[in-house]
Amino acid sequence: MDSMNKGKIALITGASKGIGAAIAVTLARDGFDIWLNYRSDHEGASVVAREVEEMGRKCILLPFDVSDGEAVRSSLMPLLEEETPYALVNNAGYRKDTIMAMMNEEEWKGVLSVTLDGFFLISKLLLMNMLRKREGRIINIVSTSGQSGLAGQVNYSAAKAGLIGATKALAAEIAKRNILVNAVSPGFIDTEMTKDLPKEMITPSIPLGRFGKAMEVAEVVSFLVSDKASYITGQVIAVNGGVYM
Ligand code: NAP
Repeated sequence: MDSMNKGKIALITGASKGIGAAIAVTLARDGFDIWLNYRSDHEGASVVAREVEEMGRKCILLPFDVSDGEAVRSSLMPLLEEETPYALVNNAGYRKDTIMAMMNEEEWKGVLSVTLDGFFLISKLLLMNMLRKREGRIINIVSTSGQSGLAGQVNYSAAKAGLIGATKALAAEIAKRNILVNAVSPGFIDTEMTKDLPKEMITPSIPLGRFGKAMEVAEVVSFLVSDKASYITGQVIAVNGGVYM
């Protein structure tokens, strides 16, 4: 465990499974207490919470929809009166793939809202405290789709490209207050989100010849919230096996 992080808190959104769960467990290993947000998978979230607690760290479960302003505020404001997370990982997200000609407004707005409204609502709430304390790290989980654009994902690519722009603008805005903002951009990672993709067709296009593991993304987040990354801000760090360079 990294004693530098002992007692610090990390809030991770969408952490009942997949990449978010791996980030929660990895940051607990690093010494962080965890505020664990998710939307509906209580069982998954409880399993992650147990793993965090087995490492001797605290874990508070926070089930709410990150795109619902009222829910975000009523869940987080009472906690923020007492404590401020040092690290925020905006990880919650989902895909609703279809070609643009078939995409309905709900599929467009839903994907944008969870990614962009979620980022805005939660980061803004924590920011007031971080600015006062003059310290903090914000990590936004984006995607190769937001860097290269991917057919069938106009909504998801737009959402993640938007989040990359927001990452850079916010990094520029708050660097003087010692708050560092970066994006981590996974390629194809083995999680529930990718389990319906045609793996045998996709794998040959990945230079490293395989899908990535959630832990391989989590270790980069672990680095970016550590003291070792104290001069990195406004960057997009890809974890994609070389699929986009
Ligand atoms: P996942 O296994 O489907 O997990 C998604 C998590 O997000 C779940 O914990 C889910 O909660 C939560 N979530 C979804 N909508 C939410 C909402 N409105 N409010 C709160 N929580 C919400 O996905 P993943 O593969 O781990 O993806 C995590 C992040 O990495 C996403 O932002 C995704 O876009 C990004 N990413 C993934 C890949 C990949 O290949 N897997 C590649 C690039 C980027 P419940 O299940 O409890 O409802």
